[in-house]
Amino acid sequence: MIPITKPYFDNDEINILKECLDSGWVTQGPLTEKFENLFKEEHSCQYAVSASSCTAALHIALLALGINAGDEVIVPAFTWITSASCVEYVGADVKFVDVEKETMNIDPAKIEEAITPKTKAIIAVHLFGCPAKMDEIMEIAKKHHLYVVEDCACAIGTTYKGKKVGTIGDIGCFSFHPRKAITTGEGGMCSTNDEALYYKMIQYKNHGASLTRKGADYGNPYYFGVYDEVGYNLRLSDIQAAVGIAQFKKLHMLLEDRKRCVDYYIEKLTGNSNIILPILPQEFGHTYQSFVILLKTGDRALRNQIMTEMQKQEIQSRPGTIAITRTEFNRKKYGLSNGDYPVAEFCEDASLTLPIYPFMKNEELDKVIDIVRKI
Ligand SMILES: *Cc1c(COP(=O)(O)O)cnc(C)c1O
Repeated sequence: MIPITKPYFDNDEINILKECLDSGWVTQGPLTEKFENLFKEEHSCQYAVSASSCTAALHIALLALGINAGDEVIVPAFTWITSASCVEYVGADVKFVDVEKETMNIDPAKIEEAITPKTKAIIAVHLFGCPAKMDEIMEIAKKHHLYVVEDCACAIGTTYKGKKVGTIGDIGCFSFHPRKAITTGEGGMCSTNDEALYYKMIQYKNHGASLTRKGADYGNPYYFGVYDEVGYNLRLSDIQAAVGIAQFKKLHMLLEDRKRCVDYYIEKLTGNSNIILPILPQEFGHTYQSFVILLKTGDRALRNQIMTEMQKQEIQSRPGTIAITRTEFNRKKYGLSNGDYPVAEFCEDASLTLPIYPFMKNEELDKVIDIVRKI
């Protein structure tokens, strides 16, 4: 079988995992700190807060920004469901904005019409590793005094005009789910350069324990800390961080080999007038967490036919992602109907994710390409 993706592990992960288990310290501890430090170095950011997933990272990011009931947050209509669920977690409401076909990311030209006096933040998603148009987004945010949270779940290593994504807005949120470029099984990370946000995020992920208001008894064996907020347990464990450290050291090698597969797909599929390939201008440092093509006609039935044929030949595929404006929850809560977000709906119907993973063989790529071409 050719899987949609495949994590890459070797002895590095096993050795450091053994080190972790032998040490007897398996929850958040020294390896989590080391993992966060590696992340900070890579991103040249001042603070990194690990979390149990990107979903958890988005949750603590919105909590730290103080977003709550009565507030509105702008979210693209085509993304993974979590980009909007995190807004619901804090009791706020989502304002959806349609995406643009070229990048499948939020359409900056449509953001301002969604802003109301209640709007507090924009969640900019760098979908499939392709950066959102951050210059335009940051300009709108500045004009309307909005926070920007970057959903970088798919986008570790992605750059926008030379800048690492996750360091442009107020907070960046990353994922280490196995579908992403590097994985810890489940895991996430927040990046920020704001000290106050940093302390709030570690407080919310760690049972609400404040690190900034240490009592006089701090350091004494009987001291339990200050709990002035209700928090959660959204920590990453040292077992996961151990895998993350080993994975992180391979990040650039893994991204490079992913790019080799992308170049092969693009070379072989270029000129096919029935599909739109993810080709982007130079300033976009796409990392292709997923290689997603669009069928020009937007014919969902044809897309499904290709997927069924792939399945018959033991090749996994997936639609790109979902138009979250079509989910039952959002339709009901926000009174949405078909046709409200036409580009997102087109992207859901027309998108097809082709298998991609490090060290995927040319024969495997050819097998996928042949089916796409044939149908
Ligand atoms: C994968 C993904 C997430 C969620 O990441 P988890 O670590 O699985 O919680 C959020 N947003 C986008 C765009 C994603 O692709």
